[in-house]
Amino acid sequence: MTTKGTKEWADWNLNLFKGCSNNCRYCYAKFMAKRFGRIKELYEWSIPVINKKILHQSFRKRKGRGMFPTAHDITPQTYIQYVVVLLRLLRAGNKVLITTKPNYNLIKMLCKQIEFYKDQVQFRFTITSIDDIKLKYWEPNAPNYQSRKASLIYAFHKGFKTSVSIEPYLDFDPIQLINDIALYCTESIWLGIMNPKYSHGYDSRYYNKSIYEKPYVKILVKSIVDIFSVAYPETILKKLRLKDSIRNLGINIKDF
Ligand code: SF4
Repeated sequence: MTTKGTKEWADWNLNLFKGCSNNCRYCYAKFMAKRFGRIKELYEWSIPVINKKILHQSFRKRKGRGMFPTAHDITPQTYIQYVVVLLRLLRAGNKVLITTKPNYNLIKMLCKQIEFYKDQVQFRFTITSIDDIKLKYWEPNAPNYQSRKASLIYAFHKGFKTSVSIEPYLDFDPIQLINDIALYCTESIWLGIMNPKYSHGYDSRYYNKSIYEKPYVKILVKSIVDIFSVAYPETILKKLRLKDSIRNLGINIKDF
């Protein structure tokens, strides 16, 4: 679910499938799978292949918090098997960060099925834009904005711990998105950029490299801090975190 790396968020991670039908253009896991020979061609990534060993594995309580999944999603195709493994992890006492580009109908079912383990779970919903046209281009088979926002609101009202990842932000200005979702995040809101390394062939109507370069990102983070330190310092600014993709540019919230 992340564009790069999972260590920022969890002590261990687990995936049940190789590949992801969302087939995001910027998917780091897809590029790594190709690079290390787990798939021959990039298009293969869009057809998830189950790992039967994980499906039948039993789990002990592991140290720290795990992230499941990290390199596929919870979709109508993968849901049933995903829940089987998730419940096995939770019954063993594990703490799990559930990362997904959420599908509202699936999140409603999932909340019911894991209700008993609410204290062991945090949702991290990836919501990268409020604009469905951009979402369709970058994340072709993932749910639209309405579905993702509704999922967040639903899980929030059901009493789950909720957080949002805006990585990579796709809007020129993600401030409206942050404003829209912040009230329903009990935990953190993460902001990150797209890795320009794999940008070859992106449509220039949807890809503006400069919004991921240091001068722009610095102004953006400063604007976010300025706006939300006046308007909603407690509900928004305190929850805001910068991903390594931004901090590695030498940009930190405390500098503003
Ligand atoms: S949802 Fe995550 S794993 Fe799936 S294609 Fe998109 S970035 Fe890759």
